[in-house]
Amino acid sequence: KVRNPGEPEFLQAVTEVATSIIPYIESEPRYRNSRILERIVEPERVVMFRVPWLDDKGEIQVNRGFRVQMNSAIGPYKGGLRFHPSVNLGVLKFLAFEQIFKNSLTGLPMGAGKGGSDFDPKGKSDNEVMKFCQSFMTELYRHVGADTDIPAGDIGVGGREIGYLFGQYKRITGAFNGVLTGKGNEWGGSLIRPEATGYGLVYFVEEMLRTREESLLGKKVTISGSGNVAQFAAEKCIEKGAKVLTISDSEGFIYDPAGIDKEKLEYIKDLKNNTRGRIKKYAAKYHCEYFPGERPWKIKCDIALPNATQNELDVNDARALVKGGCSCVAEGANMPCTPEAVAVFNKAQVFYAPGKAANAGGVAVSGLEMSQNSQRYSWTRTKVDNKLKEIMHEIHACCLKYGRMADGHVNYEQGANISGFVKVADAMLAQGVV
Ligand code: NDP
Repeated sequence: KVRNPGEPEFLQAVTEVATSIIPYIESEPRYRNSRILERIVEPERVVMFRVPWLDDKGEIQVNRGFRVQMNSAIGPYKGGLRFHPSVNLGVLKFLAFEQIFKNSLTGLPMGAGKGGSDFDPKGKSDNEVMKFCQSFMTELYRHVGADTDIPAGDIGVGGREIGYLFGQYKRITGAFNGVLTGKGNEWGGSLIRPEATGYGLVYFVEEMLRTREESLLGKKVTISGSGNVAQFAAEKCIEKGAKVLTISDSEGFIYDPAGIDKEKLEYIKDLKNNTRGRIKKYAAKYHCEYFPGERPWKIKCDIALPNATQNELDVNDARALVKGGCSCVAEGANMPCTPEAVAVFNKAQVFYAPGKAANAGGVAVSGLEMSQNSQRYSWTRTKVDNKLKEIMHEIHACCLKYGRMADGHVNYEQGANISGFVKVADAMLAQGVV
């Protein structure tokens, strides 16, 4: 707290990991006197910079840009860029810290980073978003590179933003390479990358259910968010025969007891991706209930998928979910459940999968995009999707390896933390005092 004032999310993420890692470190002689935990919580480097740009009225706007280069023990820095007014150093450090374990769990050679800005793309014209992205990259380009640091998308950064950022990088450096992932298919992107986080999340849930000899067929699912992760998680749930009851945005949620089907989901995609409208319009179109200012966790379900943002599911939400019969919670977002909520799930023996395991499919396919860029070759949709399934299966196996408790319950949080930690810590030790 003294070293990192004003960074509650970072402290929350570190505490969560340290709780499961410390007993393990103490039990392993090779980590003794290595000060490995103190090293791993400290970013290798943080870059902060001014982002000035001209809005449509010709007025000067100033935002703050960041890149946290957290850990490069097992590969170049890798992690998304977030454009949202809530972005600050503490939020990006928490995300970069989580990324260490997540990237390690994918089994791919990726270190960890995260970046972004307090810029709010909401309500901005395409021209303003482009001007901002160009100014942002005009500084960022000197800190990133296809072999050193490869950013991607996150909240507020989708295909449009990656396009503008890539265009500016290419103009400045003259290089057409894999410096960013999440690119368009025609210019170096990977098939399945937009779908990967949501699909991967559902593949992970299937693995969890399989341990209880269950499947998604007929299960009631509540989802928060309506962005990239939420849309494709909903799509895969529907494909697997589950009933998706809710979807939300930052203003409220809709509850559709009949279930969101394929056609309704296409409407949501168009609403959020093309017209950038509000989710309440869904309620008017499909005659269902809209709950302004609320989150969907009071709706009875079998499975809950929080896919919007950090700390969006608190202790009261967790109690409501348990009371409503929910038996599985998997995080599509990063750290959406508060520690108190997680404690409620553990006590009730609800299956709970942390984001660093359950949403790792996105960065995994980003890693596959990097492989394809290096090969200067594109893989088929089926090949990428199969590889994604394989990776989610392996991550689940890693969670079981370190997370299976004496009573048979699986503590996915502990499993993911220890498994992700071992690979990075051993690489750091092998590389000397780094
Ligand atoms: P998007 O920007 O596409 O969508 C975010 C969604 O969450 C929107 O529906 C947004 O509502 C809602 N939201 C954002 N902030 C808040 C808030 N403070 N309160 C309530 N709702 C909010 O982002 P993504 O779908 O890409 O990311 C969602 C989460 O998944 C994040 O935690 C991200 O870090 C994580 N993630 C994303 C990956 C990816 O590949 N994209 C990979 C791994 C994790 P509105 O429309 O009103 O803005």
